[in-house]
Amino acid sequence: MLPFKLVYHPGYDQNLGEHVFPSHKYRLVRDRLLADHVAAPEDFAEPAPAPDEDLLLVHGRAWVERLRHGTLTFYDILKLEIPYSRQMVTAYWLAAGGTTLAARLALRDGVGFNVGGGFHHAFPDHGEGFCAINDIAVAIRRLQRDAAIQRAMVVDCDNHHGNGTAAIFARDPSVFTLSIHQLNNYPTKKPPSNIDIDLEDETGDEEYLTRLREACAPALTDFKPDLLVYVAGADPYCQDQLGGLTLSLEGLKARDRWVVSTALMHKVPVAVTLAGGYAVDLNDTVAIHANTARACKEVLQRVGWKHRRR
Ligand SMILES: [Zn+2]
Repeated sequence: MLPFKLVYHPGYDQNLGEHVFPSHKYRLVRDRLLADHVAAPEDFAEPAPAPDEDLLLVHGRAWVERLRHGTLTFYDILKLEIPYSRQMVTAYWLAAGGTTLAARLALRDGVGFNVGGGFHHAFPDHGEGFCAINDIAVAIRRLQRDAAIQRAMVVDCDNHHGNGTAAIFARDPSVFTLSIHQLNNYPTKKPPSNIDIDLEDETGDEEYLTRLREACAPALTDFKPDLLVYVAGADPYCQDQLGGLTLSLEGLKARDRWVVSTALMHKVPVAVTLAGGYAVDLNDTVAIHANTARACKEVLQRVGWKHRRR
């Protein structure tokens, strides 16, 4: 049995068919973790869709209603880059509920793992780049509203800059945002995070890990968050179709181990979200995400977790 819960819902799949965003990957990650005996069926927890009130802590009412009622404009859909469907709406509401649940479970267990989410390109009043609802921001705002946490840190390791998250928390001193990403890639406009690590094309394992460690460790020590949300994108992988970094499978696993162990050693619980992953071979994307769960298991067994009273 895992020392933490995996949050998953079959409704995470938007059934996008041949789209570059393989939205059935969530089910494949779940199946892989079960087949490899990393997890057992009882290790999974099913989220409820986030209530609209939670979404409204981050998003404007007009955007939430356009999504709910299917009244997106042509321009809205163009920016989102995915077709509108009821399944798509359900999937985003579930992802936000899932990351919120994972964050709650992280406070209890040290790690909470959403086998989904990480939709960091969603802004308060519009969506972009396959992201309609910013589940990361919704989870943080909801836990703050419940006084379960005061301060949160987002460590965004997706290949692409976390523009939506950076914009949402730009003027909020209670949330620290860090993004490590390929500079010459989507999004063109990158609203500043608290720390932006801009990487050149084809940056590999060693430089990536060095730059991440050098920036992230002091920030974690100084900021002292009550929760870290780890956006564990699989797309810095060398075989990714939408990424231009060249991390190896081992490099990505070393990244996961470092983020999770450093947070836990600072007594900061970690909520994990999957974010992007568009490898030429979908099996690689699935392996990278499954490895993140393996890394959490190894680290939690090694470092342990003692519930910190606030
Ligand atoms: Zn990405």
